[in-house]
Amino acid sequence: MLDELMQHVSKGWYRFLWAFWVFLNIAFITAYLVSRKFPHLNLEYTYGLNDAVIYMSVGILAYLLTAYWLIARSSAALASFIGSLMMVLPFMNVFNETNQSTSSLIYVAAWLLISVLVGMHGLVISLGAMLVSFIYILLEIEFDFANLKPVGLLLILGPPIFAVISYFFWRNRFISESSERVKKLSGQLKSHEQQLEILVQSITDGIIAVDTVGKITLINKAASQLTGWPEDESDGLDATAVLRLIKDPKSDSLLEDGEHPFNQVLLKHQPVNVTLQMLNRQNKSMFISLAISPVLLPSEGKNQLVGAVAVFRDVNKEKAEEQQRAEFISTASHEMRTPVAAIEGYLALALNENVSKIDNNAREYLTKAHLSTEHLGKLFQDLLTSAKAEDGRLTSHPEVVEMGDFVTQLSEDLRFGAEKKGLKMELVMNSSANNSGVIDASSSGGMKTVQPIYYCYIDPDRVREVITNVFDNAVKYTSEGRVTLGLTGDENIAQVKISDTGPGIPEEDLPHLFQKFYRVDNSATRAIGGTGLGLFICKKIVELYNGKIWAESKVGEGSTFYINFPRLTATRAEQLRNQQASASPQTSKVETSTAKA
Ligand code: ADP
Repeated sequence: MLDELMQHVSKGWYRFLWAFWVFLNIAFITAYLVSRKFPHLNLEYTYGLNDAVIYMSVGILAYLLTAYWLIARSSAALASFIGSLMMVLPFMNVFNETNQSTSSLIYVAAWLLISVLVGMHGLVISLGAMLVSFIYILLEIEFDFANLKPVGLLLILGPPIFAVISYFFWRNRFISESSERVKKLSGQLKSHEQQLEILVQSITDGIIAVDTVGKITLINKAASQLTGWPEDESDGLDATAVLRLIKDPKSDSLLEDGEHPFNQVLLKHQPVNVTLQMLNRQNKSMFISLAISPVLLPSEGKNQLVGAVAVFRDVNKEKAEEQQRAEFISTASHEMRTPVAAIEGYLALALNENVSKIDNNAREYLTKAHLSTEHLGKLFQDLLTSAKAEDGRLTSHPEVVEMGDFVTQLSEDLRFGAEKKGLKMELVMNSSANNSGVIDASSSGGMKTVQPIYYCYIDPDRVREVITNVFDNAVKYTSEGRVTLGLTGDENIAQVKISDTGPGIPEEDLPHLFQKFYRVDNSATRAIGGTGLGLFICKKIVELYNGKIWAESKVGEGSTFYINFPRLTATRAEQLRNQQASASPQTSKVETSTAKA
């Protein structure tokens, strides 16, 4: 309370006042001792240094050195207030003793200086101290204003005037300025806080903020409604208990704690953006689009993690519409594929010299029609596959595959296409230092070479589709030079690498390559047919196995596509193989889907 009435004076100023008081009391005591030691100087009478002054000074000194600090711990203002009241006593006493004589001018000066210092400390100390001194003097002169000497008058009027001037002087300088600023800032902070609260609560997306251990520190109204957890109940709870995310839609099993995006973000300090199914408190499931970002505070040149914040919304409606769209596209493309296949077949027959006789003009037209029909057939096929990939109906039968053998075998099929176009085809099997491998002593000249073993859990048919598609693109867009297929990796991943010496891809197109229907629009690719769906499908398939696909390229310097798959340890591969072997042949292939979006 007292602190609030005080100006917000910094601790340094209180210490300064304290030091000044200590100095004055020591000065009193020293002067007293000198006056006793050298009585002939007559100091005692000239300066009013009687025993009472000394008792008071010693008492005040004791207060300043002990109790002052105890009180100052909780309120420096209160400790100084008491100090200022106490300081009145020795001064009034010496004034009294010297009978307001001019020899006490030195005290007057000190007293006025105290008034100035006290004034700096705000209204409460000033008024308190001045009031006491005023009453004291009035009592001393016994209200006999007629006999008041000029020094006495100065004593009565001086301190309040000095204190008030000092108060306003400092107030307008810096002391109160800072206190006003603090007040203003705290007011602003409060209003900002309220604004922020209103803002967060009015956002229609759900917002949940957590601390570094994943405990909820903030949840807005929308998040409460979506999760079914009221704000007061969810505060301090583990975010994974409130934002319950479904791992497998078929069994409604929830994500393990370690897999939960909140924990992933807190662990890796990287944002996550996913569409997942959530189970609310009433066990009703819904699709949510969820973006979680780490909250990082820059400190000492580093970013320190202070928590994470999730923004999510109900996307059930969008999901249902998307499903309808995908269903329409897949039904339509499925239905149209059959007549297109028939047209393609008849055109092939018409072009077959053994069964039909046509003139050269007709042959030229029919060849063009055949090419277009082939393109149409591919488009329908791609549309069907991409629609399935989007709504999670893409079938997949993952199994343990040794990538080295797999890529080597596949390269034989791919070589033909490249060489047919006059391109050189290279296969590069690379082993990195920390890969476990087997020693192949049978290779050239008895030299021991290390061939890496990369086990991955993938559907070989689907991954063949991916590698073939990317390799076919490399061949398709490269007019001369070389196409390279490579396999490398480290302890965590197996990486398939496909590079070419083709035209390259402009930097601005690279981030969009894997979007639906995206084709680079330049003279090099315009002349070459394509649907713009191939890489989109590739990405969807690669993501089925928690893999990653991306491209690096420079115009004029060719392109390189990278495909990463998580690598299994030899023990895990063995385990999975045994599991598959022990299952019945019909069920040995586990069907997974792309429900993860
Ligand atoms: P498309 O059927 O058009 O080939 P994709 O999805 O397979 O569709 O590829 C998308 C686009 O990426 C292509 O249209 C092409 O512009 C570009 N692209 C893909 N691979 C290469 C490559 N190896 N070299 C140059 N451009 C490429």
